[in-house]
Amino acid sequence: MPGLREAGVDCWLITGGAGFIGCHFVRAALREPSRRVVVLDKLTYAGNKLNLSDVSGDSRFTFVEGDIADGALVEKLLAEHTPSAVVNFAAESHVDRSIDGPRNFVATNVVGTFELLEAMRRRHPAVRFVHVSTDEVYGALGDDGSFLESTPYAPNSPYAATKAAADHLVRAYARTYGLSAVITNGSNTYGPYQFPEKLIPLTILNALDGRPLPIYGDGLYVRDWLHVEDHVAGILAALDRGKAGERYNIGGGNERTNLALVDMICGALESIVPSGKRPYRELKTHVVDRSAHDRRYAVDSKKARRELGWAPSREFAAGLAETVRWYVENRAWVDAVQAKAQYTRERLGA
Ligand code: NAD
Repeated sequence: MPGLREAGVDCWLITGGAGFIGCHFVRAALREPSRRVVVLDKLTYAGNKLNLSDVSGDSRFTFVEGDIADGALVEKLLAEHTPSAVVNFAAESHVDRSIDGPRNFVATNVVGTFELLEAMRRRHPAVRFVHVSTDEVYGALGDDGSFLESTPYAPNSPYAATKAAADHLVRAYARTYGLSAVITNGSNTYGPYQFPEKLIPLTILNALDGRPLPIYGDGLYVRDWLHVEDHVAGILAALDRGKAGERYNIGGGNERTNLALVDMICGALESIVPSGKRPYRELKTHVVDRSAHDRRYAVDSKKARRELGWAPSREFAAGLAETVRWYVENRAWVDAVQAKAQYTRERLGA
């Protein structure tokens, strides 16, 4: 019997595939029967093999535990698997942790991306490289307007600064060395399998446990929420149809203040697990604000709509309610990932 490679099976190398967005992308990639997937993931506190348990038995799936900053390992994987695309999700991704300790953010987000690019340049320059980035590179907006791909970068947190630095390297490698690299700048993403430190799962889980729901500052910070499956579809579209050297904004078009979002989550929870005497929304507690907290993000995704034929399809209230239900029904997953990370939902970055 011919091996998968001999049989013409196409392979994608996906870094950070054991994290939140990466694990959804891996599942989407494997929906194509003629594709193999190699995941390279360091399994930091945020990465967990449990996120991939439904695909781990697939003969087209290979998991490699390792660091994107290990250039020799990346080169070896490129030589061994000759992927037709490399998609980089691997990152330190939590703003609050970047305030507590930026070093890992520089090591993975900047140096790690650099090592990936170097390995690509040496081994695989013609291959599609998709670098998954964030709208946070653009800084903060006032009451109106939205980020365009031409908006100058003005990152405010160490997280955003390291993502911005990586984006600049990716762009430069496309221009200088002709790498077939594209960048996606996605907005705040939500859905199943998100590590509980992030606002939506944190709120759901604290509410269920009757713990305070932390609201940073006045709670009037605005984010543009994107369902993880819509984000994945945008990245797939950029992989397929993106132009080398270009960036594409991927936004959900769902602007909400944090206060309004937390109220929506409480409302959804009341209909799934009624709170009883004390309504969930009464658990909201204003806490000291995040340093350099960006007031508002809003993403203009017209370029992705026009050039990639992508558009988000998830209705926000329905997507959020489904997400709330997923966390209610997956407490074993929550307990396992929190235990592995030794995370107890404490305040970070204060
Ligand atoms: P996540 O924190 O859930 O997952 C990150 C994954 O990368 C983990 O599996 C972790 O183990 C792995 N990783 C970390 N350092 C590594 C290293 N040095 N080598 C190999 N693997 C490493 O992150 P996420 O929310 O899934 O985000 C994925 C990407 O999308 C990130 O690049 C992030 O900047 C970007 N992004 C996230 C959002 C969002 O709202 N979550 C929005 C826009 C863009």
